[in-house]
Amino acid sequence: MTTATQPVLHQPDFKDFRDHIPTADQKGRRLWVFAKRPNGAFYRGRTWLSVLLLALLFGGPFIRIGGNPLLMLNVLERKFVIFGQIFWPQDLFILAIAMITGLVMIVLFTATYGRVWCGWLCPQTVLMEMVFRKIEYAIEGDAHQQRQLDSAPWSAAKLSKKALKHAIFFALSFLIGNVLLSYIIGSHGLIALVTDNPLNHLSGLGAMILFTLVFYGIFARFREQACTFVCPYGRFQSVLLDPNSIVVAYDHRRGDPRQKADRNQTHTERRAAGIGDCINCGLCVSVCPTGIDIRNGTQMECVHCTACIDACDSVMSRLSFPKGLIRYASENGINRGERLKLTPRIVVYTAILFVLGGLLTYLLVSRSDVEASLLRAPGALYQPMPNGNLSNLYLLKFVNKTSREVPVELRIESPPGSVTVIGSPLAVKSEALTETAAVVELPPASLTGKDTRVRIGVYADGKRVQTIKTNFIGPEQSTP
Ligand code: SF4
Ligand code: SF4
Repeated sequence: MTTATQPVLHQPDFKDFRDHIPTADQKGRRLWVFAKRPNGAFYRGRTWLSVLLLALLFGGPFIRIGGNPLLMLNVLERKFVIFGQIFWPQDLFILAIAMITGLVMIVLFTATYGRVWCGWLCPQTVLMEMVFRKIEYAIEGDAHQQRQLDSAPWSAAKLSKKALKHAIFFALSFLIGNVLLSYIIGSHGLIALVTDNPLNHLSGLGAMILFTLVFYGIFARFREQACTFVCPYGRFQSVLLDPNSIVVAYDHRRGDPRQKADRNQTHTERRAAGIGDCINCGLCVSVCPTGIDIRNGTQMECVHCTACIDACDSVMSRLSFPKGLIRYASENGINRGERLKLTPRIVVYTAILFVLGGLLTYLLVSRSDVEASLLRAPGALYQPMPNGNLSNLYLLKFVNKTSREVPVELRIESPPGSVTVIGSPLAVKSEALTETAAVVELPPASLTGKDTRVRIGVYADGKRVQTIKTNFIGPEQSTP
């Protein structure tokens, strides 16, 4: 909550914008951003997308696929569920590949498309601009009314508005904290937590209170500073972007030199007089949630929310000037006066992104529900059997990655012989590790030496899901 004496961002002086952040004064005091309510095609598009994203965010832990949540990241038990598929520490390589793919995608995506993620998809932006900011507009009015309310002396009306806003912010933060917790412990865990005696779940209760306070602090106070100071992605973009990257940009060739609008002058006359299209109205600055002036060029604080595009387009429309003075464009595109076009770089990077996405999808889809490992029992040698065959004893482990019991069996594939699982027929319990033993029997004619390579098929639900290769110990072969 700002106070009457707190300095606010009215019409900032951006001449030295590279030397300081726009939301702090020379003494380092916070300059509160009163962002004007955006309106326009991009804002409407973001609003519709945010409805979908918020439904996914809040519904994610409660949506079930095959009995599993859509998404659960239980770091405490090292159990991860993504799109209903359970991942265990045994799947670490898939997670590692997913992380590498994600990193490469971030680099390529940012280098090509700029910070589309920040403006359209990031939970921080979606929640801040599409939930908390809208509540603020509904209670306190647009930027001008908010500024007036903040500088007004405390009264019953001001107190009630502020109290209502912060009570709703706190309740929403509590809800978000609960949802975050359910992404970690699962929706069943959360329901058990909230319906049971809180004294039985002090650590869970503590985590929930902590999450609530953190979210309340972020959305009520910290706001755009989370993107500017904390988010590493924002920092990365300064090294990832180049003159061909698509960013939210002001067309300085078209806009400058700037001059106030003259109602008696047509667009053609204005151009003929050497005046740019920017009328210096400052609307693009007023709507910016990070308090910057995009006309100064690409800046780290810009989260590509497109509010300034909508604002400037509305000004251009009112003046019957062509839209797009601020638009998605590359620096090279602006300098050459070109509209956005598909360059070879965009095509190649997009193709790489698709290949990586496809590879990851293949790994996820082809991943088996049951994974087995077979190790020779330590210290055990071969045993002669009454039928003349030789046997080896193995320790067998099954991991069932599904939430149902899965029947499994082993079949020897080569050389001719047999494999018997102790306790067969075996059903591996859901989401569990099952340990048992197996005996492999080979006729002496199948042995190729002291060590014989054996291939064993693992069958789950009657379908082969894995082939295990191991060694079978036999007697030394006598040389003829
Ligand atoms: S909204 Fe458009 S016309 Fe107004 S100051 Fe910004 S760039 Fe210039
Ligand atoms: S400069 Fe424009 S796109 Fe960037 S954060 Fe501000 S309003 Fe959003």
